[in-house]
Amino acid sequence: MSTDSLRFALYALADDSMGGRQTGELGDWKAQEWIAAQFRRLGLQPAGDNGTFFQVIPFKRVFVDTSSRITIVRTQTTLAVGRDMLPFGGRSTWSLAAVRPVFGGWVDRPDSWLDSTTARGRLIVLAVPDSARNLRQIFGGLAQVRQSPAYKVAAGLAVVGLDRLAPDLLPQFLAGRITTDTTPLPTTGPAPLLLVTPAAGRALLGADPSTARQGQLGDSLSGEIRNLRTPLAYPSRNVVAVLPGRDSVLRREYVSVSAHHDHVGFTGRPVDHDSTYAFNRVVRPMGADSPMRAATPAESSRVQSMRDSLRAAHRPRADSVFNGADDDGSGTVALLEIARTLSRSGGTRRSVLFVSHAAEERGLLGSAWYTDHPTVARDSIVGEVDMDMIGRGNATDLPKGGTTYLEVVGARRLSKQYGDLLEQANATLPTPFVFDYEFDAPGHPLQYYCRADHYSYARYGIPSVSLSRGEHADYHQVTDEPAYIDYRALARVATLARNFVTAVANRDQRPTLDGPKPSDPHVACRQ
Ligand SMILES: [Zn+2]
Repeated sequence: MSTDSLRFALYALADDSMGGRQTGELGDWKAQEWIAAQFRRLGLQPAGDNGTFFQVIPFKRVFVDTSSRITIVRTQTTLAVGRDMLPFGGRSTWSLAAVRPVFGGWVDRPDSWLDSTTARGRLIVLAVPDSARNLRQIFGGLAQVRQSPAYKVAAGLAVVGLDRLAPDLLPQFLAGRITTDTTPLPTTGPAPLLLVTPAAGRALLGADPSTARQGQLGDSLSGEIRNLRTPLAYPSRNVVAVLPGRDSVLRREYVSVSAHHDHVGFTGRPVDHDSTYAFNRVVRPMGADSPMRAATPAESSRVQSMRDSLRAAHRPRADSVFNGADDDGSGTVALLEIARTLSRSGGTRRSVLFVSHAAEERGLLGSAWYTDHPTVARDSIVGEVDMDMIGRGNATDLPKGGTTYLEVVGARRLSKQYGDLLEQANATLPTPFVFDYEFDAPGHPLQYYCRADHYSYARYGIPSVSLSRGEHADYHQVTDEPAYIDYRALARVATLARNFVTAVANRDQRPTLDGPKPSDPHVACRQ
């Protein structure tokens, strides 16, 4: 393994010119082309559609039409999507013509909610307590609201909480969802939801929501919210290659190794790179997975001093690209480095299948599509190794991190032998990793077993493991850049993955299955 090859490749793949590799956007397409070019250069065989390295996924994008407007007729105040409100709900159109807003109480206080007579046909405006600091907490409270009789007869809900949404999440919500479903968007269904700013809440009610009285009516509305479904601007594709096995019989079987090339794009609202870097290290140690909150005075001064020392080292820099160097540039360049070293050493007895998955960030959609429509016989895949975020994990990144830190998820669930082979491959490294199996625990709330691409294989009964060096302050932030990667650690994870793949690929027998697999691969995953 060459740290120089890994570094060189990652600076290309995670460059700003890749635009954050958002599914359906130009940067993601460029990344796919670049990966295929590397596979070709390394002499691998194409294993996508029609003799190419690509498997095209027929995704459509479903998203809210950002030109949708709601107008408060009397004052002619207009609410715009993305600025004043963020709509949720799957209906193709949601008309608010002649609907009147009504103050419906507080999200967390059922005693303050309206009865269904007052709520019927109205847009219920709900206030959010100061204690609900982020979307997760707000949506947690809404589950009960949606069971209430008033909600069931209302025209919709407007929750005054858009100010609690971390700004970096807004573009991801506006990007909508992608789907391979082709049935028309529904025209009916549960009442839609608007997340609105406090200013929009005041405009709707003509009163401050935090002091409004229950049942207080606002003026009549006009306008509608529209959802659109369009093809992606650029195709989303899994990039697939094979290094053929040496054994004339075993070469018909494959050991699969994978990563994902997509990430979360870029933002139209640039931030100061060093401020974001410092703020997240102090306040949001798991990046986007940590709740957004204000810094305490003590934290502010730590942020300040960290930023000052960065400022002393270089000029300030505005940043708008989510480079995804660790997520999952690290796994992708490891995939290429494994391909390079395996092909140079003459390969293995079984074939090795290299899959750079698309659309992981949209809910494992690329790996789900690949395993539902595999380009080699599904039963011929004897094992799968996924690498996602393997370039960080040191003590500065997470409390229990260090040079030997590695999160291992899923390895033994379908085959104890598969997990044993991984342990054995690790034990022969000059500096073995200490496996952290915590996130593999059944029922673990972080759901890592269900949140990585390896699961798409596991649900079909293929022994699968997910390798990761864990989350950090730059997770899903513009600061996830190649400069912050530990290339030695990255090379060591790649070495482990390659040695493990080699061990599985060279054995006479495929790994013995002894764990339960889902009876139906399409039922919801259980951690
Ligand atoms: Zn990832």
